[in-house]
Amino acid sequence: MLYEDFDDEEWDDDDFEFIHPKRGPIDKVFYPFDSKEPFKSCTMCQTQFEEDTDFLIEKAVKGNDVIFELAMCLPCAENMRKQLSEDSLKNIEKYMSSVDFEGRAQHFVETQSDKIQDYISTCLVSGKEIDPNEEHQIYALCTGSQMIYSAMPYAMRGAVMEEIQELLSPETRQELDDFMDQYLIPDDLRDLIKGRPVFV
Ligand SMILES: [Zn+2]
Repeated sequence: MLYEDFDDEEWDDDDFEFIHPKRGPIDKVFYPFDSKEPFKSCTMCQTQFEEDTDFLIEKAVKGNDVIFELAMCLPCAENMRKQLSEDSLKNIEKYMSSVDFEGRAQHFVETQSDKIQDYISTCLVSGKEIDPNEEHQIYALCTGSQMIYSAMPYAMRGAVMEEIQELLSPETRQELDDFMDQYLIPDDLRDLIKGRPVFV
């Protein structure tokens, strides 16, 4: 997964003072839509998030509507990635190859910004401005009650997500659907995220 590219160690160089990515309370845009508190457990395996649990949040939104939202512990995210065929992964990596994740991470580690709009007002892949009234997706990496400000959070336009979906082979789509079926997630959420490469 993409977030693996920016773990702390990459920036740990003996010649330089190590600068940590900015951390701060999870921004409210990443709260469950019907809650005044952040996600408390993994949508897939139901594991409760502790203060040291790393997890990802993904939300698909359009205007004031939340199309779907989920929080996922890293082991579940990794398991999901394993459902993607080698070809599907290669296609996605090629599609995303224009994104300079390291440069983005370095930029935000330097600016230490925790202004959410600095991160999610433009599309990670296309660079175009996000129209809040058009469907788009936002992503964040969190540890316990903290959000990590590095290459994540980021946003993607709905059109980009559709193009990524097109890169998946029918076999991979089936694998992802079967994977979802193993978990006790609500049916309406399952229907919404079926066939989508969540967290890819
Ligand atoms: Zn999980």
